[in-house]
Order: sequence, then C-alpha cells, then structure tokens
Amino acid sequence: MATAFDFNAPDFYSPEAYAKETARIFDICNGCRLCFNLCPSFDVLFKRIDELDGDLDQLADPDTRKVVDLCYDCKLCFPKCPYTPPHHFMLDFPRHMLRGKAIEAKKHGVSLRDKLLSRTDLLGTVSTKAAFLVNWTLGIKPLRALMEMTVGIHRERNLPKYSSRTFSSWYKRHKMQDEQYRTPEAQGAPKVVFFHTCSVNYNDTDTGKAAIQVLEKNGVHVEVPPQKCCGMPYLDGGDMDNAKKHAAYNLNRLADYVKKGYDVVSPGPSCSYLMKQEYPMISNNPDAKLVASHTFDLMEYLAKLHKDGKLSMDFKKSQGKVRYHLPCHLKAQNIGFKSRDVLELIPDTKVEVVAKCSGHDGTWSLKKEYFKMSLEVGRPLFEQFSDGAAAASDCPLAQLQIEKGSGTKPRHPIQILRDAYGLENNPKA
Ligand code: SF4
Ligand code: SF4
Repeated sequence: MATAFDFNAPDFYSPEAYAKETARIFDICNGCRLCFNLCPSFDVLFKRIDELDGDLDQLADPDTRKVVDLCYDCKLCFPKCPYTPPHHFMLDFPRHMLRGKAIEAKKHGVSLRDKLLSRTDLLGTVSTKAAFLVNWTLGIKPLRALMEMTVGIHRERNLPKYSSRTFSSWYKRHKMQDEQYRTPEAQGAPKVVFFHTCSVNYNDTDTGKAAIQVLEKNGVHVEVPPQKCCGMPYLDGGDMDNAKKHAAYNLNRLADYVKKGYDVVSPGPSCSYLMKQEYPMISNNPDAKLVASHTFDLMEYLAKLHKDGKLSMDFKKSQGKVRYHLPCHLKAQNIGFKSRDVLELIPDTKVEVVAKCSGHDGTWSLKKEYFKMSLEVGRPLFEQFSDGAAAASDCPLAQLQIEKGSGTKPRHPIQILRDAYGLENNPKA
C-alpha cells in the first residue's frame, strides 16, 4: 500500500522537510476543515489561521508545536479524511503529528516525564512487587501534589491499581496445572499467541485470565511467550528509537509463532492497533507485515471463531443491557463492532454502543496541562454512562477515564462473556 511518508526515510528528522510538509498539510486541511470539531489540535489550528486572516505563511513554529502537542493520537481524523493514501494528496495527519513529536524529542531529548510514563514494564515490575504500598502511596494527596510539581502528572488523575501478582506469573502456574498444555495441541485446533499488554500484566490481570478462560473453553490452544510493551507510550513521547526497539523485540518472537500457524491476539485496542498498523511502518523487520496480517483484537478473534462455526454457544447466564464504549483505536482498525456482535450472541443481552472518544488517549491525559482538557473531550461520553447501567469498554485507559467522568467503571467485554459462560471469576490457578 502507498504510504504518506516513511518513518525510516533519511529526511524524517530534517526540520526543513518537516516544515515543508507541515505547510502542505495545513493548507489542505484549511481548505477542507472537515475535522473542525474533532479534537483540540484542529480547533487551535483553524482558530489561529482565522486570526491570521487565512495567511498560512504567518504560522510560526510555536503555532505548529501547539497543534502537535494537542494531538493525542486517537487516529479519528485518519478514517474520516478523504485525502489519505492512495489519494494523491497522501495526507496522514496523525502520523505527521508523531513526526513532529519525534523531531522535538530528537532536538531537545525525551522529557523526564515521557521517559517515566513510557517505562511501563519497569514501573510494572517494580510496583507489582510492592503493590499494596505503591497503591496506598499513590492515594496520598500531598504526595500526588508533589508528583504533579516534580514530574507533571496531574494530582487528580485516577491511576490504575497495581496487582500483587503479574498476569504472566499467573499464566505460568495455570499452564502447569491445565490439561491442554500437558498434551500436544489437538490436530487442527486454532492456536494463538496471547499478547497480554502491560495493563493486563501489571494492573488488570483479571481481563487476561478471562481471555484465557474463554479461549480455552472454545478449544483454542494458547501460548504466552516473553514479550515487552508494544511501544505505544514511547511513540506518545516522540521516542522513536525505543518504539522501534520494542517493536523489534516483539516481532522477533511473534513472527516465529505466526510461521508455525499461530495468530496473535491482544485484549488492548492500542496494542493491537500498533501491531497491525504501525509495526510495518516503523520496523525494518521483513516479517512485520506477516505478523500484522495475523494480529487480531481479542473480540475480533472471537467473532472470527463464531463466523467459522467454532464459538461455543453454551451460555449459562444472560447479561441484560450492556452499554458499550467503542474505543478510538478499535474504530481506527476498521473492523466494525466485534465486541457488540459477540456479546449479543448471549441470550437476552442487548448492547448499546457509544462511539465517542474518552479523551484519555495514552499518556496525554496524565499530563497536568492536558488533564482538564481531556475531561472536556470525554464529557459527551461520560453523560451516556452516568445512569449506572452495566458498562463495557475494551480500552483500559478509557475505563479509567469513564470512571473518573461518570462514576461508572466499565469492564472488558471478555469479562462479561466469561460471566455469561458461567466460568469462575478471577480464578486463582
Ligand atoms: S489523531 Fe486524534 S487528536 Fe490527533 S489530530 Fe487526529 S483527531 Fe486530533
Ligand atoms: S485531516 Fe483530512 S479530513 Fe481532516 S481537515 Fe485535514 S484534510 Fe480535512
């Protein structure tokens, strides 16, 4: 497929080439303005152009930086835009914003805050060892105020709680005890590599357990090899080098499995998005496209099983009405409404879809200068969740943001499906 630009091109970090491309893109957007109400980036851009009476030549570097900093990489403008490849304008607004962040990081170095926020594996490994203490400490208001002053993480941002045991350690024990792993995988049985995500490994381990329970109930052979953060938080901070290193580590391991007939399945919309859409762009690994073409969002994979007549319909409990938030990074995968479709297979279960941005968007809403704006972005979504009905979202960060804005904490759809099958909640292994 034609691409708007190449992350590995020799002039990727050239300020002149970047400025020229920025002027070209802003000119096209100014003529179009379809995204006028999509996010703060476009709002600020168009207001500034209007202040300058439409004279784009007067846009200065600080104007561009503001537009770049306000982009939280939700990707919503990409599928909306009529000028993306293969159109000859070859416009890719979100990736151009990533390029702007990467150039800033190359010039001034990655900020301390972005370095800290992107070390999800390191933070998770340390914090799970002292989960009670870390969770307690993160709830102390004066300490949160200090954290805001020193590293710039907003004091009111609700943070995910750490689990005292990682998902991967639970899985190792589960694998030792489970019959399917003591026998060779059944001939012709579907096989998947589970890319657990940092959130599942260190925070929301029950979502990972539910995924394994549901996959195993459906006769899927699961493997969970060593893996690292997908690299999305590094991209958020413009740290391309580390994003590429993480992609390389994961691709090396995942490609071996894909070549042996495995699919890659992940419960995290941003992680599966990255592996499908960005790994082939940022990595030189010739297997990146192969892995991308065998990567599925978890609920997308279950919908595929259903289409192939392999999803168990042995449901024990109906789930009534579920209000479901469709995350932006699933929308950007262009796969339809797979979580809704699968949940509606449960008898007497009706899913109401809300497809609005939560405004959390990676590390963006953790930052003190954007936290309040992130709640403003998410307000139309929160209003729909404030009646306390059962709620679901595939995105762990949107779950946090919806809880902050509405008081209702959504669960991952896989936990609802696990309940419908009547399987054990939060199994010990
Ligand atoms: S990716 Fe999202 S935040 Fe960034 S410019 Fe597009 S719509 Fe705005
Ligand atoms: S990103 Fe595309 S759709 Fe959005 S304003 Fe620019 S040209 Fe129009």
